[in-house]
Amino acid sequence: MLIGSYSSSLVLISLCVAMLASYTALDMAGRIATAKGRAVYLWISGGALAMGFGVWSMHFIGMLAFSLPIPLGYDLSLTLLSLLIAGLSSGFALWLVSQPSLPWMQLGLGALIMGAGISSMHYTGMAALLMQPGIEYDPWLFSLSLLIAVGASAAALWIAFRLRRQTLYVRQIRGAAAMVMGVAIVGMHYTGMAAANFPEGSFCGALGAGLSGNNLDYLVLITTLAVLAVALLTSVLDARLEARTAELANSLTRANQELTQLALHDTLTGLPNRTLLADRIDQAINKVTEQGGCFALMFIDLDGFKPVNDAFGHHMGDLLLKDVAARLRGHLHSQDTLARIGGDEFVLLVEMQDAADALGVAAKQVNLISRTFRVAEQNLQISASIGIVLYPGNGSDQHELLRNADAAMYHAKSAGKNGYSFFDVSMNSNARLQLQLLQDLRAALEEQQFCLFYQPKFDAQNCQPIGAEALLRWQHPQHGLLLPDRFIALAEKTGLIIPIGEWVLDEACRQMRAWIDQGYSDWRIAVNLSAIQFCHSGLVESVAKVLARHQLPANSLTLEITETTAMHDADASLAVLQQLSDMGVDLSIDDFGTGYSSLMYLKRLPANELKIDRGFVRELEQDSDDAAIVSAIVALGQALGLRIVAEGVETDRQQNFLTRLGCDSLQGYLLGQPMPAERFIADIERARQAESVS
Ligand code: C2E
Ligand code: CA
Ligand code: CA
Repeated sequence: MLIGSYSSSLVLISLCVAMLASYTALDMAGRIATAKGRAVYLWISGGALAMGFGVWSMHFIGMLAFSLPIPLGYDLSLTLLSLLIAGLSSGFALWLVSQPSLPWMQLGLGALIMGAGISSMHYTGMAALLMQPGIEYDPWLFSLSLLIAVGASAAALWIAFRLRRQTLYVRQIRGAAAMVMGVAIVGMHYTGMAAANFPEGSFCGALGAGLSGNNLDYLVLITTLAVLAVALLTSVLDARLEARTAELANSLTRANQELTQLALHDTLTGLPNRTLLADRIDQAINKVTEQGGCFALMFIDLDGFKPVNDAFGHHMGDLLLKDVAARLRGHLHSQDTLARIGGDEFVLLVEMQDAADALGVAAKQVNLISRTFRVAEQNLQISASIGIVLYPGNGSDQHELLRNADAAMYHAKSAGKNGYSFFDVSMNSNARLQLQLLQDLRAALEEQQFCLFYQPKFDAQNCQPIGAEALLRWQHPQHGLLLPDRFIALAEKTGLIIPIGEWVLDEACRQMRAWIDQGYSDWRIAVNLSAIQFCHSGLVESVAKVLARHQLPANSLTLEITETTAMHDADASLAVLQQLSDMGVDLSIDDFGTGYSSLMYLKRLPANELKIDRGFVRELEQDSDDAAIVSAIVALGQALGLRIVAEGVETDRQQNFLTRLGCDSLQGYLLGQPMPAERFIADIERARQAESVS
């Protein structure tokens, strides 16, 4: 037997190469797992090349490390064949671990094929020596080398499969795994080498024609390192690129989501906006068409939101809207859509099995809003008017549905607010009527269709008349006598309230002059001013002119402005009120208790009278809260030196209670309805005669 020997440095190098090749292979497996489409095959081919070359060169360097007392060479074609086998087995291994799953059966079969590949590479490489006579293999060691090859392959495949995904410490784990795999591969090689016996007198048949030479080891080593380095570098760079691309794609997705959110949602409340609502309605219509069922669309408008905005500013208004949105949203199912489509307008889309369910939902929403809101340390009281349409039934597309829901909402408002109305075809004609009414209103003043009704005010203690409030009426040629609710808002919206208001002032003063001439010189005539008139620059001047025209003492005219009007833009109001007060005009704060007065401000107002809103008076008998509020207002007014008037007195009990509390004067249907001037005086005269008789 020829005794072989090993160059220890080359053995060490072969071990390093094996580990490096293993690391590269594991890294490649990771790349393949995250690659897509054609890139998978590119990575498998490139990986197979690099890894095959690495494993093969480990084996070849291992061969070079071995020397016999005779010179050795390597047959070129067999050497290339062993390289090819190494490449194919590597490719197979990489393909296997890039599969979505790796069951045990598949792992076992793969390990067998790969082990066979590595072994055949090794023994083909040995055969390239073309030893004469042939190498004798020890059967035990030979079998052991095959076993190691299969075992190492199984371990390598399993590790590579588990390590494909990027996890924490993946590099460190991969490095450790590469060392284990390297040792296994090297172990297989040197076991195979140990199995080989070279009989005495052998010579190498590949010498001469095949590969040989002193620097062959360096050549192989450097080429291998270069190939592995390139492969590894490509893999690492590509991983970086992929991570970066993923990051970019992520931020792009996020940016897109934010844009969609902005485009489709209301920025204040975060609720869907009109655009998204339109889309949801279309979807709901399609769904009902395909699957049946029904849905309700509810137009929700807040009552009393404007006074909050006026009294506390937009910031408070915004906070309140947010709270309203949150409260409504909190009591809905996730599939319902609540959108904000305007200042204080919301629309709710509710899918239902039964149309009757809409009633419960609407009642709940009304109830939710009517509960007190606590915003920035303030208790705020508002309510909601809701118009409801059903699909199918109340419209064929979203435009018609929304229009009809809007009309139903107006109906709910005019029916007293804080409630809901289902749409009815007659409401649609209401909208058209409204437009017609506006045209009629423009002509009404010239056509002399307005007139004034007078409602008496009485001294609470002795029940004597002390004057009247002038209330506007419109004698409409088709609709008959119209109350202010029907047209004042329209007149305000169009600015017509200015000339109409001037007419009212003039007419009321003319009437007052007549009454003075009839002997009622201690009376006062009260005229209502709308906010628009109050803000109009010519107000003070036109009041002065009217008083002069009818030679009326300023003190016989009371101007009633609502609390909300007076509180809006407090400083400007104060200036106007001060001028009127300086003229000697009597000033009354109307509908007191419905707005949000600050006591500080109230103290500075040059007002003479507070008019308790008739809402409180109405509830007096049922609700002790209102009784408490009324007595507080009376006390407050007395402390500020103001006259207190209660309006809307309808029952004896109310009259007694208000008188007992200390109200100065009373007004209401119980004591006298609003009526034309002739009847007004006739009634007063009749009462006076009845009194003098008794
Ligand atoms: P207001 O100033 O609060 O006027 C009192 C309203 O209460 C009147 O309604 C009157 O008819 C009604 N009323 C009087 N006694 C009772 C009662 O015992 N029970 C009930 N339930 N109601 C009673 P009207 O005439 O329909 O006026 C409504 C509102 O229209 C007025 O409220 C006022 O704000 C406005 N208004 C009336 N005339 C004019 C006007 O000439 N100019 C302006 N800008 N607004 C006016
Ligand atoms: Ca009034
Ligand atoms: Ca009032």
